[in-house]
Amino acid sequence: MGSDERRLDGNAVGGLLGEIFPLDMTMANIRCAGCNAVEPIGAETVYMDAPGMVIRCMHCGNVLLTVVRGEGHYWLEMRGATWLQMAAPSSPGESTYDGT
Ligand SMILES: [Zn+2]
Repeated sequence: MGSDERRLDGNAVGGLLGEIFPLDMTMANIRCAGCNAVEPIGAETVYMDAPGMVIRCMHCGNVLLTVVRGEGHYWLEMRGATWLQMAAPSSPGESTYDGT
């Protein structure tokens, strides 16, 4: 099986990351430490058949995030990412910034 056949859409991460984070992680932005590109996780390239799940930068192929589930724990390795940005749920009385 070639690497193109094993490659999944970033939305495939929603299930596993959804077990860990209470937010929609496919919409979370992640910044690549390799090329500084910022993309939603749902747009990145995902491989599920590695030991665990590997998310690679769609621009440079750098490994952004690795998630392994086993022995009662989740393991997140994300040294290939500079940061991860998630939308905070709006709370009552909080003004929302819509970018305008
Ligand atoms: Zn990159």
